[in-house]
Amino acid sequence: MVTDVLVIGAGPVGLYAAFYVAWRGLRVVIADARPEPGGQLAALYPDKVMYDVPGFVEVRAGALVQHLVRQLDLPGVTWRLGETVQGLAPEEEGWVAALPGGAVRAGAVILAGGLGALQPRAASVPGAGSLPTFTDVMDARTLAPRRALVWGGVPQATRMAVDLADAGAHVTLAHRRALFRGSPEDLARLDALRAKGTLEVRAPADLQSLRAEEAVLDDVAVPVDVAFVLNGYLPDLAPLQGVRGLTWDGEYVVADEVGRTTLPGVFVAGDLSSSGGSFKLLSRGFSDAALTANHAAHHVNPDLKVRPGHSSDKRRPAR
Ligand SMILES: Cc1cc2nc3c(=O)[nH]c(=O)nc-3n(C[C@H](O)[C@H](O)[C@H](O)COP(=O)(O)OP(=O)(O)OC[C@H]3O[C@@H](n4cnc5c(N)ncnc54)[C@H](O)[C@@H]3O)c2cc1C
Repeated sequence: MVTDVLVIGAGPVGLYAAFYVAWRGLRVVIADARPEPGGQLAALYPDKVMYDVPGFVEVRAGALVQHLVRQLDLPGVTWRLGETVQGLAPEEEGWVAALPGGAVRAGAVILAGGLGALQPRAASVPGAGSLPTFTDVMDARTLAPRRALVWGGVPQATRMAVDLADAGAHVTLAHRRALFRGSPEDLARLDALRAKGTLEVRAPADLQSLRAEEAVLDDVAVPVDVAFVLNGYLPDLAPLQGVRGLTWDGEYVVADEVGRTTLPGVFVAGDLSSSGGSFKLLSRGFSDAALTANHAAHHVNPDLKVRPGHSSDKRRPAR
């Protein structure tokens, strides 16, 4: 796959950088290790409300991701979700990135990897794997199990449980603590499905083991066909730390004031960048995104000025 700009990381900063690349009329590929966009906002705190995002008196993190994804619905955008970028190497015309689903060749690259590739925590339950066991969310309709166990107190557990129940499964949602997180909509769906009897909550509970066709909760065998063990995510910087020639300062990639790294045509934005010190905030990350995307656009097509002009003088292209 060939593109003008590759954005590594579909967190808020990567999403906004990809928007700006597409807004400049270029092709952009946006890749993320997770199966859904949003970075920390989607993985770690989709249910929390933020009060310091420009233009919003308050906004739930999950809702902000939806806005960013809608803004990115432009021509020239290709998604590569669920793929960790394993390596980046120079080529005559730019860069080639190694992804599990096939290489991406790009004239410029924006590293928007945040804290690192967000990987689900392993299912550390005896017998995990003796029945289909998943550690991240997925489209419940593609699975359509009859009986499912969802284990976890993270917002993804609540969402997965209600999605599975809506897809027709009988769901047991269980966790160590009797506290489930989620958006107000998902928590309301949870209450409604419990009242209907298609979703059963067992909490506080102890998940002792998984066996073929059953889960053992507090010494009771519960018949299940699939198990979701959702225990959150851990960031992994190792794939990006392996890129030769990048200069690092601890967990930050060293950059100049517009996000240029020590590699030509490779830019860095957001939490991963040294340019804002340890100022890990969205407002600063969005500024990085605008700077790096417009410099990357100029890098791949010198006829495009670095400054994008005012969007208010333009029209949004039809998709
Ligand atoms: C609990 C919490 C609350 C917060 N509240 C606020 C707040 O109120 N206001 C505020 O401004 N900020 C807040 N923040 C900080 C804010 O979330 C971050 O500054 C922001 O998410 C940084 O965005 P990013 O796109 O740079 O990185 P991230 O959000 O970390 O996204 C990076 C993405 O890159 C992907 N990635 C990394 N490496 C690879 C690879 N090799 N291949 C493929 N994908 C890769 C990751 O999987 C991830 O999805 C909060 C953070 C936390 C944890």
